[in-house]
Amino acid sequence: MRPNYQKLTRLLGETRVLINEPLSKYSSFRIGGPADLFFRAKTSADLIAAVLGASSLGIPFFVVGGCTNLLISDKGFCGLIIKNDTSQIKFAGAQGDKKVRTVYLQVESGVGINRLVRFCLDQGYCGIQAFMGQPGTVGGAVWINAHNISKGQFFGEKIISAKLIDHHGKEKEVSNKYFHFAYDYSICQKTKEVVVSVVLALQIGDKKTLWKEATNVLKYRQQTQPQGKYSSGCTFRNIEKSDAVRLATPEFTRSAGYLLESVGLKGYKVGSVQFSEAHANFIVHQGEGTASDVLKLISLAKEKVRRTYGVDLKEEIVLVGEF
Ligand SMILES: Cc1cc2nc3c(=O)[nH]c(=O)nc-3n(C[C@H](O)[C@H](O)[C@H](O)COP(=O)(O)OP(=O)(O)OC[C@H]3O[C@@H](n4cnc5c(N)ncnc54)[C@H](O)[C@@H]3O)c2cc1C
Repeated sequence: MRPNYQKLTRLLGETRVLINEPLSKYSSFRIGGPADLFFRAKTSADLIAAVLGASSLGIPFFVVGGCTNLLISDKGFCGLIIKNDTSQIKFAGAQGDKKVRTVYLQVESGVGINRLVRFCLDQGYCGIQAFMGQPGTVGGAVWINAHNISKGQFFGEKIISAKLIDHHGKEKEVSNKYFHFAYDYSICQKTKEVVVSVVLALQIGDKKTLWKEATNVLKYRQQTQPQGKYSSGCTFRNIEKSDAVRLATPEFTRSAGYLLESVGLKGYKVGSVQFSEAHANFIVHQGEGTASDVLKLISLAKEKVRRTYGVDLKEEIVLVGEF
């Protein structure tokens, strides 16, 4: 093992760092080669120590949450994968005259979105029920500003403040504005800062009504997205509004899935990966596929859409490792 790998392993705990760990088993796509080193951060202190340790030893690292928005290279990742398994949800205050109307929750970034939504529904906290059924963690949801497009809701809207660390493990507290949240965007994509925790503001609601709303969200998801298939969600970002207007798409839809379907790619297959029959923007995988097969589909789609519509599709899924 390389000397700096040995040092990092000693620093994080020899029994806690896995060597040559296959990443496919963590990825919702079930694709990806091994990581040289793999560490589960169970607490915020672990997360900070791993970032600090890797950066001070000059070891490339990458933080993953649920691995539900990734395409991991068949060659894997040279360096340290930090799997964020932090899990605390803490009550952080309440506000309101006579009656409590707003509650604040401090949530660690490794908390699963689904677990958080269900926790809020059980407590009667209103605000994130549109994210019922959304895979991944709070950290991943902040990074991309996860959305429920049909409800017009973005995860970033509920965040009041957050604790971040930069690539050298230096901590800072920031407010919502810092993130410059937009469609599929937060500043973390540029700064490479890691989200440690967030504070969310939620309203008090009626549990029964909230559960009903969340159940309807789940039903809609089941009707419009492929079920029981390995995937990483939407492959491409939706197109610019100006392009939707120029192309006069039906009701000026910005859906990348619409363009993929209209160039005949719905259901198109390479090996055992294919553009889903249920939703053309999802690439689904039947178990024997590779990242390079997925990349072939991505390149084909980009080329066809560019030739037909003059639009450059941009990936929503994040490529990890060497391609
Ligand atoms: C079936 C399916 C349905 C989906 N439906 C939706 C949907 O409706 N709406 C939607 O928005 N997305 C959807 N997605 C995509 C995905 O679930 C989201 O993008 C999710 O927010 C990714 O979170 P994650 O924890 O899995 O992130 P990962 O996939 O692990 O990582 C994604 C990116 O986030 C970064 N990241 C992760 N944690 C942190 C952190 N703590 N700090 C800084 N950066 C971090 C990673 O470095 C990486 O760049 C879907 C995916 C699947 C498989």
